[in-house]
Amino acid sequence: MSVEPPTLDREDVHVIDDDRFTTDSVALVTGAASGIGRATAIALAVNGLTVAALDVDEDGLAETVADAERFDAAGEVHATPADLTDDEAVIAAVEAAAGLGDLRFVANVAGLQHVAPLEEFPMAVYDTMQDVMVRAPTLISKHALPHIREAGLGAVGNMASVHGYYVTSDKVAYNVAKFGLRGLTQSIAAEGDGDVRSFSVSTGYVKTPLVVDQIPDTAEERGITEREVVEDVMLGQSRATEMMEPVDVANLFVFGFSELGSHLNGGDLTFDDGMTLTYE
Ligand code: NAD
Repeated sequence: MSVEPPTLDREDVHVIDDDRFTTDSVALVTGAASGIGRATAIALAVNGLTVAALDVDEDGLAETVADAERFDAAGEVHATPADLTDDEAVIAAVEAAAGLGDLRFVANVAGLQHVAPLEEFPMAVYDTMQDVMVRAPTLISKHALPHIREAGLGAVGNMASVHGYYVTSDKVAYNVAKFGLRGLTQSIAAEGDGDVRSFSVSTGYVKTPLVVDQIPDTAEERGITEREVVEDVMLGQSRATEMMEPVDVANLFVFGFSELGSHLNGGDLTFDDGMTLTYE
């Protein structure tokens, strides 16, 4: 069998009745051209929010916008192209998002992976990964906070990972970045005075194109079937037989931003099928 990237269905998006989920409220979502970021942008639009969808991949952003339109989402998705390694572009994107209405929510989702042993890890790649996954979320938060305070109430959600709790070999930049993102989350909670909440989301493997594309190669490398790659390699330490889908993660951001998340501040939504808390 082969494992296909999931398609997003509108009925998989949870819609929460929330006074702040209107087109006056803006959510800025990074990494919105693919995978979890795309699903999050669409889910927030389906929940009635105006969404500023940020990514460096303009073609991917156009598909996200088209998907939201196809779903007849109550809120509009605005493509906001920017490279997260470019400070000026990042600041301009935050201001563009604030220009769409009351900027209340930020989902820092963009990320990238590089696999190499510590002793061989290219420092230029390390720097880019920290820039995209830690520095940019910090810069975005710095410039979004005054807007969120002006709007009254809001939240910053950060896409962390089980790699923000425990680590695997040969992923030093990713591991350090995800630990860092949890530090940023708690810093925003400390300084947000309850008006600006913050939370992180930590999952194991999610069925995004990035992960699905690795399956055939891993199967060939290890001489096992694709199903065995999913069950033994990717889900080996968890209590699940199927990976989470991007929309499952998107729904966690919707929940965290909603009034159901009112007392979620500085904490982490660890949805990892027991991966970090159980063994054998
Ligand atoms: P993905 O590759 O499908 O999407 C990542 C997006 O980030 C891409 O659209 C890419 O263009 C964008 N991006 C990368 N560098 C950028 C830059 N410089 N400027 C602007 N945009 C940039 O990946 P995904 O699997 O959806 O992962 C999204 C996030 O979720 C990442 O932070 C990842 O670490 C995290 N995560 C993923 C998994 C998983 O199994 N897929 C598990 C846990 C956490």
